[in-house]
Amino acid sequence: MAAYDLTHYLLVAGVAWFLGYVLCRSWWANRKIIPEMPTWADMRREAMWSTLTVVIYGLIGAATIALVKAGWTRVYLNIDDFGWGWFWGSVAVAIFMHDTYFYWTHRLIHHPKLFRFFHSVHHESHNPSPWAAYCVSPGEAVIQAGIIPLVALTLPIHPLAFGLFWFLQVTIAVAGHTGYEFHAKWLMDSWLGKFFSTPTNHIQHHDSFKGNFGLYFNLWDRWMGTNHPDYEKRYREVVGR
Ligand SMILES: [Zn+2]
Ligand SMILES: [Zn+2]
Repeated sequence: MAAYDLTHYLLVAGVAWFLGYVLCRSWWANRKIIPEMPTWADMRREAMWSTLTVVIYGLIGAATIALVKAGWTRVYLNIDDFGWGWFWGSVAVAIFMHDTYFYWTHRLIHHPKLFRFFHSVHHESHNPSPWAAYCVSPGEAVIQAGIIPLVALTLPIHPLAFGLFWFLQVTIAVAGHTGYEFHAKWLMDSWLGKFFSTPTNHIQHHDSFKGNFGLYFNLWDRWMGTNHPDYEKRYREVVGR
């Protein structure tokens, strides 16, 4: 399980790093949300914590497979049992579940009594690189891995749909930390900008410590009034350069 997660993570973060930090670095420079680059020391620290996270995700993934084998989960193995409509639907529901889980657990670990133990490792990156996506303390890794058994226990989901959901979550987490705003200029002027979160949203969370707790969507932050007051202004500034 750890090897499976590591492969995903290395692939997605490796591609993001190669594109944003080597190949397209000068071409994309005006879209770098924080113009300075993270240091090698930052990236080394992020990669080390990420390795530990992959191991913890692997252990919790393996424990979830044991639950599947024991028949305690709602995981099903025959796609025809629920059809292809639900196969794709289950990926979407898992993403919405994860977005809600992430928003509330993330807000919780920003509580002053919990922050130091659970979340301070992640916030050592004020200017994150793609390797910051999994750079969390072991305590936070356990919390974040909780979505694996939660989905398996509550949602009828095929292992392939789960694999797709997991690949999307790695991709979104890496995209949010790579440091480039790749969305179109018009996004914030349409409903899509109110619906989806953006890399600017999460980078602003890292460099300001204020608001912007979401992962995939901007819905919970809007409903709860926790967007950074300057989020949209910052987005327009980055895409208008
Ligand atoms: Zn945070
Ligand atoms: Zn982050």
